[in-house]
Amino acid sequence: MCTFVSVVTDQVRREQTLKDIANRDDLTNLYNRRYLMELFAQRPAHETRTRYLAMVDIDHFKRINDTFGHAVGDLVLRQFARVIEDATHSDEQAFRLGGEEFALLLWSDDSAILHQRMEALREAVEKCQVNVSYGNGQPRKVHCTVSIGATPVDAGEDFLSASLRADESLYTAKRSGRNQVVHYDMNALGVS
Ligand code: GH3
Ligand code: MG
Ligand code: MG
Repeated sequence: MCTFVSVVTDQVRREQTLKDIANRDDLTNLYNRRYLMELFAQRPAHETRTRYLAMVDIDHFKRINDTFGHAVGDLVLRQFARVIEDATHSDEQAFRLGGEEFALLLWSDDSAILHQRMEALREAVEKCQVNVSYGNGQPRKVHCTVSIGATPVDAGEDFLSASLRADESLYTAKRSGRNQVVHYDMNALGVS
């Protein structure tokens, strides 16, 4: 009986491990787009807070690749993943959607506080430096910045509809000079 139970437990554990691997991005180990779509369709019972979707895109990332090479670019992506992961609470998730594009699924009672959290993430990235060895082994510090577009998600809204607003805000952030956060309903926040 005990042996049967432990075989079943091992099988369940193996299936969970495989499922977790399928939900992760290889390079950064953040969650992937597939899992974002899956989570988006779910809403925990009794959750009263508003869900937020934030799209996060590294600014001028191509320049990092062009200047230091693809391997250094990968290092920056991995380091950045840890910074964005630190911006999440235990019931929130960070995702790599592909390339240098990331997303966050967050919860908040207050859009102004949410906006402050995204500002804090933007600043954390700005202050972060990745130590790399460049050319003839010379140590160099690589910096990057991010643009962030965030939007509240209506209850029952699908990913495509919410991501259109988050992307629109992200493009506004890019067009306005990068290294900034644009909340879809900026006026409602009283943020200038
Ligand atoms: P913008 O500020 O407008 O976002 O400019 P950008 O240079 O960040 O954006 P662009 O889309 O022009 O370039 C993204 C670059 O990301 C181009 C591509 O080579 C690089 N890239 C995509 N995936 C990876 C990856 O897995 N590793 C590395 N090192 N580079 C990647
Ligand atoms: Mg970019
Ligand atoms: Mg991009």
